[in-house]
Amino acid sequence: MTHDTTTPQPAAPAPPAVNPDPEPYLSVVVPIYNEAENLRPLCQTLSEVLSAGSWSHEVIMVDDGSTDGSADILVELHQAYSWLKVVRFRRNFGQTAALAAAFAHARGEVIVSLDGDLQNDPADIPKLVAKLNEGYDLVNGWRVDRQDPFWQRRLPSQIANWVISLLTQVKLHDYGCTLKAFRRHIAKDLKLYGEMHRFIPALARDLGATITEMPVTHHPRTRGTSKYGLARTLWVILDLLTVKFLSSYATRPSHLFGLLGFVSLLVGGLITTVLGVQRLFFAVELSNRPLLLLGLLLIVTGVQFLTMGLIGEMLIRTYHESQEKPIYWIKDVLE
Ligand code: UDP
Ligand code: MG
Repeated sequence: MTHDTTTPQPAAPAPPAVNPDPEPYLSVVVPIYNEAENLRPLCQTLSEVLSAGSWSHEVIMVDDGSTDGSADILVELHQAYSWLKVVRFRRNFGQTAALAAAFAHARGEVIVSLDGDLQNDPADIPKLVAKLNEGYDLVNGWRVDRQDPFWQRRLPSQIANWVISLLTQVKLHDYGCTLKAFRRHIAKDLKLYGEMHRFIPALARDLGATITEMPVTHHPRTRGTSKYGLARTLWVILDLLTVKFLSSYATRPSHLFGLLGFVSLLVGGLITTVLGVQRLFFAVELSNRPLLLLGLLLIVTGVQFLTMGLIGEMLIRTYHESQEKPIYWIKDVLE
């Protein structure tokens, strides 16, 4: 039997930590879906604009399941440009998902989002960042001279902008503009679902962001095709409902449903009481009174609204407590 008598050697001191890949100051994020012809000119312009500035930078392009060879071109560009990071989706998940993935991968202190079709001008990036550094959390681009078809795109978009600014707390001219600059923590805290990228300013405001806007250049699409048509206007209306509900009642659903429930119960109760009195004391026949049906219906819906509010209250507790999500956002703590 042998005994190992060698004493363990002390581990060699670790070399001083040198971060091989320090965090950049600026992350530019771009959703890409079937933009094969735009990718090379886009990277060329980004390269010129970003190398002219003094900020350390990275660009994150998310390939949203392109089917036109964009993914292969991105691989090639990734080898050519050291600042380019590429995230590739397994299939098409939509612009909102692509933006969310890009935000999750971005490491910069400042994040700028940009369309991948060269309709937004990368030359605006330094101006947006400068504006952000005047003390804002979000600077929204405003395509003052928007180069898209009028009936199909500009008019629906103008109406949408008007309604959104009426119903949400943020007053901007152009919610749909992808060209935006964010402080990192705002972009990272955004919870994006469905087609919600249009509501980023409203969602950011719910996080307590200070928001401003700034005119930016807009070019007509010269290569590739637009991914959207008139149909998305309907989705915008439904999304608006969600955003409005979440920003006002996400932590107190019973206030909304309770109010509806009480009104419904009150009116239903009143109707049935009047009919009941007529039947009991004045011998009025109720078999031919449609009002009775309305009164009963209102009572039933009233009870349903009230219980829906209570279920909502339980759901938000599960949401916040099971994931330890606070119901507030802290700016900073002075100790
Ligand atoms: N896009 C995407 N996934 C989609 C649709 C679009 O990543 O499912 C990207 C697209 O490649 C472009 C940006 O989102 O970079 C805006 O799309 P598009 O230019 O078609 O929209 P428009 O400018 O017409 O509003
Ligand atoms: Mg476009």
